[in-house]
Amino acid sequence: MIKVAKFGGSSLADAAQFRKVAKIVLSDPSRRYVVPSAPGKRNKEDVKITDMLYACYEETARTGEISPVFGKIKQRYDEIISELGLNISLEKDYEAIKNAFIARVGKDYAASRGEYLNAKIMSEFLGFDFIDAAEVVFFNDNGSFDAPKTYNVMRERLKDSERAVIPGFYGVTANDTIKTFSRGGSDITGAIVASAADADEYENWTDVSGVMIADPRIVENPKNISVLTYRELRELSYMGATVLNEDAIFPVKKAGIPIHIKNTNAPEDEGTLIVTHTDKNNESSVLTGIAGKKGFTVLTLEKDMMNEEIGFGRRLLNVLEKNGMSFEHLPSGIDTMSVVVNDHELEGKEDVIISELMASTMPDSISIEKNIALIAVVGRGMKNAKGTAASVFRALADEDINIRMIDQGSSELNIIVGVDNSDFEKSIKTIYSKFVK
Ligand code: ADP
Ligand code: ASP
Ligand code: MG
Repeated sequence: MIKVAKFGGSSLADAAQFRKVAKIVLSDPSRRYVVPSAPGKRNKEDVKITDMLYACYEETARTGEISPVFGKIKQRYDEIISELGLNISLEKDYEAIKNAFIARVGKDYAASRGEYLNAKIMSEFLGFDFIDAAEVVFFNDNGSFDAPKTYNVMRERLKDSERAVIPGFYGVTANDTIKTFSRGGSDITGAIVASAADADEYENWTDVSGVMIADPRIVENPKNISVLTYRELRELSYMGATVLNEDAIFPVKKAGIPIHIKNTNAPEDEGTLIVTHTDKNNESSVLTGIAGKKGFTVLTLEKDMMNEEIGFGRRLLNVLEKNGMSFEHLPSGIDTMSVVVNDHELEGKEDVIISELMASTMPDSISIEKNIALIAVVGRGMKNAKGTAASVFRALADEDINIRMIDQGSSELNIIVGVDNSDFEKSIKTIYSKFVK
């Protein structure tokens, strides 16, 4: 039995948290590979080490002199080392990092040092080997993850190491530059290590006792989801359930390794298990979870007899492609077609896009709705239930919430509704209370 255990930032925010982590890891000999994040917030007002590193690098690059934030970062690590009574010094690393900042080696390198230093401390504390992610996680020149090379090299390396700590979040490109995954990317490293180690389980230790039906920052005390499928989690995490990075699912899904989300501060809690298939019913038989994000724009094109016009959709999407824009949804009716795009995709391009759409699709009208929030209602049970969409719409209508867009995913796994940004929180609370008793 092999388990890979990834610990998030709040699980490693200070020496007391390191002790909890060590207790968890050492209590089960199958926990052979540990993937730590950088130290996170110790309290609400605190700043994550990763954010301090970005700020420190930015200021250093701007002024040419090392930012005073660097001293604060050092202090946080040194505090952990001394409170754990460890006999190591990171002075040489600090010196190298400082020089690299002054030499402007890049912000990804800067951010990656958070997990690098933390993993060094963790390996010392646990008595495990330290394997630098820069030696086992690879990116292609175009910035995409190089799976074949990573798995080849990492597999061999893990064979030589009975127990090891591998820092999360980063790897190296073909020309030896450090590159990070997206924010929250230690989850991805953990999943890759689990796959390379042929693990029986990927444990993801965080500060909540699993994935909850809705974001606990919006709904008070939401219920926990005990089991969900990879596909449901992918929908939920993509749509804003930030408990797990949305890209952390593929490596383990492919290998069929279950993900187990657990709470470092309450290890006895059951947590959430993520698997390929489950017959288990959730709290509500149709709805597994609700998630959402603000900040979208809906462009709607209307044209009489659009249904008969061959190539309309292609011409529309061509304009987006030419302008390097990705889109989220494409709901369409008989004579209308809408594209939902993230606001940042449209930034500075709005006028160009509109005029190109006009020219290439010649619609009767184009309307633009801004400040839209998308909410995904996700559930594997939806396929076999009648009237789920109607219940969602009624729940929102009863609260006088105006629905600006609707899209039912072709997977029959989700229903997406668009509402005004200002109705976002209220909508999630309303849907939650309607479906979860
Ligand atoms: P870590 O530092 O361990 O990686 P994150 O902060 O990335 O932890 O993710 C855990 C947080 O995700 C929780 O503290 C919670 O605020 C947030 N979160 C958002 N949506 C959900 C959800 N549906 N279920 C559980 N947590 C959620
Ligand atoms: N420390 C990184 C971040 O804050 C990666 C992670 O926590 O997973 O995004
Ligand atoms: Mg995270």
